Amino acid sequence: MLSGKCAVVTGSTSGIGLGIARALAGEGANIMLNGFGDAQEIERLRAALAAEFKVKVAYNAADLTQPAQVRDMIAAATREFGAVDILVNNAGIQYTARVEDFPEDRWDAVIAINLSSNFHAIKAVIPKMRERNWGRIVNIASAHGLVASAEKAAYVTAKHGVLGLTKVVALENATTHITCNAICPGWVLTPLVQKQIDQRAASQKISMQQAKHDLLAEKQPSLEFATPQQIGALTVFLCSEAASQIRGAALPVDGGWLAQ
Ligand code: NAD
Repeated sequence: MLSGKCAVVTGSTSGIGLGIARALAGEGANIMLNGFGDAQEIERLRAALAAEFKVKVAYNAADLTQPAQVRDMIAAATREFGAVDILVNNAGIQYTARVEDFPEDRWDAVIAINLSSNFHAIKAVIPKMRERNWGRIVNIASAHGLVASAEKAAYVTAKHGVLGLTKVVALENATTHITCNAICPGWVLTPLVQKQIDQRAASQKISMQQAKHDLLAEKQPSLEFATPQQIGALTVFLCSEAASQIRGAALPVDGGWLAQ
């Protein structure tokens, strides 16, 4: 379905981003991977994706806290593949503390990666998408884009901001074939969440299994994690023709979190 198209997926060396990259490659899209990690491991991942799905896969090491590096990543993908047809703003980090204890540099980092990088990447891809009159922008927000939890001031602020940005970009392109939507995952078992399970197990002196159960029971009525594959499949759907009138939406994949 996406054969010949090029997708840039930020933060795709791990977790949800990797699931999205795999799903898009599975539909024939060429992929620009991005994210941190061990160079050899990333190269192994890049080559394995290319071999498994018979698509071109490139990697760009842009640090998304740096707007110039975000722009360079989009320019590199355009040089490599001719155009960026699909942009998935996925990279994100978490930091938990009460507002009065929240370190300023962690606030700045969360806002830069989880929110501002989306703006810089979208700004960089829109002109060429307009020329070609086709594009799909998918922002990975969170259930925390619509509701809050204590001790997540920067993350909740950034994710609410992502939903605002998503709506504006959708409206500014409403009469074109460029759509912009957000996916709002609940808990997905990735390194980002494993860290929170580890913290919970350590601070409450409970087993890892109990910590996992408690984390889900607090928010996610299905008591099951959503998966990177499920987020990938929804991203593929948002790239399809069938989704061309879904614009500015915030789509939950959250086991019922937001239904409460
Ligand atoms: P993860 O920690 O597994 O992956 C994060 C990715 O972002 C990694 O590839 C990492 O290298 C990359 N990254 C981090 N900082 C970066 C930077 N400065 N520059 C470039 N890349 C950077 O996390 P995940 O759980 O897969 O999260 C992916 C997205 O999904 C995030 O935006 C997160 O907020 C969102 N999300 C996750 C969950 C969840 O339960 N896991 C729930 C809702 C939303």
